[in-house]
Amino acid sequence: MAKVEKFSGAYTAPITSKNGQILVIGHKNPDTDSIVGAIAAANLYKGRGYDVKPVAQGEPAPETQFVLEKFGLESPEVVTSVAGKDIFLVDYADLKQAPADFSEGNLCGIIDHHKMGDVSSNSPLECWIWPVGSSNTIIKVMHDFYGVEIPREIASAMLCAILSDTLIFNSPTTTPLDQKVVKELAEIAGIEDIEALGMEMFKAKSNLDASPKALLNRDFKDFEMGSKKIGIGQLELISEEMVTPELKQALVEEMNKAKAEGRDDVVLVLTDILKKGSRLLVVGDDSAEIAKVLGADSEMWMDGVLSRKKQIVPPLQKQFA
Ligand code: MG
Ligand code: MG
Ligand code: MG
Repeated sequence: MAKVEKFSGAYTAPITSKNGQILVIGHKNPDTDSIVGAIAAANLYKGRGYDVKPVAQGEPAPETQFVLEKFGLESPEVVTSVAGKDIFLVDYADLKQAPADFSEGNLCGIIDHHKMGDVSSNSPLECWIWPVGSSNTIIKVMHDFYGVEIPREIASAMLCAILSDTLIFNSPTTTPLDQKVVKELAEIAGIEDIEALGMEMFKAKSNLDASPKALLNRDFKDFEMGSKKIGIGQLELISEEMVTPELKQALVEEMNKAKAEGRDDVVLVLTDILKKGSRLLVVGDDSAEIAKVLGADSEMWMDGVLSRKKQIVPPLQKQFA
């Protein structure tokens, strides 16, 4: 392991913190990767001697609640303003996903696994952006790099976050590193049946007992694509048939309202984890074009499409560039 020794974190420069406490903050409409990522990254930076606090830009969704409760972790405080604060971003690097007053904060670092966003910083910063399945995969490697231990309950939640983002390794975003890291976390956490835990978590995630507006917003992101503003939501379900025709109708009504707020198109992807594909709902000026680009069949089914990041956003970005 001479290589690891040579490049270990002990030799890196400290991050530039101006205001004392660093807030580790995940993206808007937080998912499990961003909330657990903030908790796990805070553990790492605490271990490196920083005064740091995990926060979130919203309340945890049912899947994240399940994970936090199961492993006895506290839900991070909700923070929507970062003016005058040192901040570390987890699971995003774009302004649209950041607090509105992001530019009045001091960006100290980024941990992410999405396409490069448009944030910028005033001082040198620490960036860990890798094309892997989950931010928590990177955070585990960072713990190893800096020689910081991961407590059992945080390891358990990190494992869940990776299973969540990779759809239990079914998503095309999954890399061998994600699988390796999950094995290592399972060992720390003493978890034997990873698959069973993943299914239990996805059952919690499939909870549709919320208003249509809350369901549309549960995992919703806005994208600028050429001159278009396109909002894309995704619901990952054990079965897309859980969405009844009545609920579908109500979701489309909410999508029309979201369009009226100044978007050109609103897309909702109903992902069926077991059937390994997604049902497409789309409203807006370009709906036929969007369905065509995404390869939806006459029933708007997209076989094999599971990842917004890899299979939905890039083809649309290319189409509307
Ligand atoms: Mg995320
Ligand atoms: Mg993620
Ligand atoms: Mg996701």
